[in-house]
Amino acid sequence: PVNRLESVQEARLKLPVCGEEQVIMEAIRNNTVVIICGETGSGKTTQVPQFLYEAGWSHPDSDNPGLIGITQPRRVAAVSMAKRVGHELNLPGNEVSYQIRYDATTSSKTRLKFMTDGVLLRELSQDLLLTKYSVLIIDEAHERNLNTDILIGVVSRVLRLRAELSREDRKKIKPLRVVIMSATLRVTDFTENKTLFDKPPPVINVDARQFPVSVHFNKRTPDDYVGESFKKISKIHERLPAGGILVFLTGQNEITHLCKLLRQKYPSLPPKASQKEKKAEDQANKLESQTENLPNGQADIENEDVDIGENDEIEEDFDLESDEDDTDIEEGFDDEELGESARDAPLHVLPLYSMLPTEAQLRVFQPPPEGTRLCVIATNVAETSVTIPGIRYVVDCGKAKDRKFNVETGIQSFEIDWTSKASADQRAGRAGRTQAGHCYRLFSSAVFDHEFEKFSLPEIKRMPLEGVVLNMKAMNIDQVVNFPFPTPPPRESLYKAEKLLQYLGGVDKMTKHITEFGEAMSLFPIAPRLAKMLIIGQQHGCLPYVIIMVSALSVGNPFDHDEGQRQKNIMTFISETSDILTLITTVGAYEYAGGSDSFCRDHGLRQKAMTEIRQLRRQLTNIVAANFPGVDICVDPKLNPPNKKQVKILQQILTAGFIDSIAVRADVLEAGGGKGARHKNASGVAYKLMWSNEDAFIHPTSVLYIQEPPVMVAYSELTQTPNNTWMKGVTAVES
Ligand code: ADP
Ligand code: MG
Repeated sequence: PVNRLESVQEARLKLPVCGEEQVIMEAIRNNTVVIICGETGSGKTTQVPQFLYEAGWSHPDSDNPGLIGITQPRRVAAVSMAKRVGHELNLPGNEVSYQIRYDATTSSKTRLKFMTDGVLLRELSQDLLLTKYSVLIIDEAHERNLNTDILIGVVSRVLRLRAELSREDRKKIKPLRVVIMSATLRVTDFTENKTLFDKPPPVINVDARQFPVSVHFNKRTPDDYVGESFKKISKIHERLPAGGILVFLTGQNEITHLCKLLRQKYPSLPPKASQKEKKAEDQANKLESQTENLPNGQADIENEDVDIGENDEIEEDFDLESDEDDTDIEEGFDDEELGESARDAPLHVLPLYSMLPTEAQLRVFQPPPEGTRLCVIATNVAETSVTIPGIRYVVDCGKAKDRKFNVETGIQSFEIDWTSKASADQRAGRAGRTQAGHCYRLFSSAVFDHEFEKFSLPEIKRMPLEGVVLNMKAMNIDQVVNFPFPTPPPRESLYKAEKLLQYLGGVDKMTKHITEFGEAMSLFPIAPRLAKMLIIGQQHGCLPYVIIMVSALSVGNPFDHDEGQRQKNIMTFISETSDILTLITTVGAYEYAGGSDSFCRDHGLRQKAMTEIRQLRRQLTNIVAANFPGVDICVDPKLNPPNKKQVKILQQILTAGFIDSIAVRADVLEAGGGKGARHKNASGVAYKLMWSNEDAFIHPTSVLYIQEPPVMVAYSELTQTPNNTWMKGVTAVES
């Protein structure tokens, strides 16, 4: 028997999911897999685990004594939902716990366990049958995170195994139940996928009351969306009736910056607030500046805010006076609605992103201080994972930071880009949970119509497959080619990725298991081939250079696109044997000069790329320092250029990383060896690609183009023109 507080009981009965309790429980009893779809905020995450708990699941004396496990793609959600459900069930101790990568509240008393899907995947590698659990809820399946997809694939197999074993001896092993929960209705990838579930699982749709949300597009689409959101928030706060504001930006830097600006402009507490309240507010704000300490210095894989892609500085001088208000009526800033001028009213500004310390995150759920307006500045974590109470206005920049990968180089990065129409609609919906609301989109309707995709691509489609495969191997999933992915990549590509990992030494050729070396590779959030360079770089004492090299390769070409300019510039930093070593010298010179804008301008370098390289360099240095005891390393801005011996070693390291991207001069191959004919430069000199036997040429932008072409080269990039294949990022291989 559950003893909920009256206020809790009242609130939960209003949630649409609670109207479906019987239907849901009936379906779970009669099916091994059930899918529940419902609008964000309808109560799926907080209520379904409670239904199971109340029906006796996870009770030691029941027929299903195993834990109720709930997975979330995001750490924020795992922690806050565990706290919320514990509170709603009014349970003492740790009966409702959470576990995220570096923090857990689980104990022997635990009956409900919230965790990130990464945590469950790691458990799977220890206990393939997941014997601890009697039921698993896989939440936020619509997000199509790589981890969630893999989890659904593995669990579809665990289900069969558990069913078979329990038929043999039900006392020893009980069958497992699985509930997949999703916010949108696009679940056909799960239901119609025969390799996943041979019988399509039932889908329960929860009808949510949603109040109307008026959507207002900007006439123009400003580049500076942080500045634009500042203006919009000010307008809303000063002119529109009470109600919380939720702002969507893309990452931590933008969010902390906007919070700072808003806090400078508006007081956070009413003038009559007591000293005690002021002090409490100060202390709460201080929590924010403590960074979440991840023991291995690595941005968590469960974290969507890996701040590599973004450091655009924002001008502080927002031109508020020149507000053109011609769009006021359209935007819902209607005179009739204008209340008393709220110009000096307090604004309770809170950030929300996943690297924020947990305690600071949880503040968004508390009611704002009396007489103030809540204003939460969030990443897309507030899109579907958490529902913030009392939101009536949404301000949406329309962008998100996502993992992207360069199809040509297979190198991944984090980039800010338009989100999808489905996501933008989710964001707008956040304004209509409790009453009619407004959504202000900081982009034009033309941009929305023409530049937004309908849905976001599943993450597996956006990642280099060799990284995916390495991750799976690190979780002890060895059979990747036949793996039941919800959206399977082409078998051929999976096969190739596995082969590449074998060449790189990350996977054992015979057993298909990950090697110790592969495990070290999987620590780094970069392509496996680059990770390999980092690890062998340590063995040769060239680490600081390798880190720069790998950072530059991950970020991509920092040279300006104007080829003429670039030709001139490379001359300054030129290395005779490699385009990539040229990159190292370039980054070194840039740091030596203090990393200034003018240096970039003078030398034709893209400022943004150089900043990103610097950030990644710092991050990789931290990971190495944290994971490889005995390696003494820091970021040295005055690093000398590599000496002759080091250059040789760096060339070897590059070759090892691009072992599958080697080309040999065609004339030398035909002659069966030797030095081949003499050439003044690489113009018209054909190379054979080692793994495909195609012809390719050194691209004219390469430093190797203007000298005697080497017999063997490694390349980091291939580009095609109608008549030729070109190699870029070329390094001479010592024979
Ligand atoms: P769904 O999973 O369907 O999106 P949730 O179960 O997360 O919905 O949310 C249901 C309701 O519970 C929402 O109205 C939300 O505001 C409320 N809620 C969730 N967590 C908290 C919390 N920590 N404090 C207060 N209310 C919360
Ligand atoms: Mg939810």
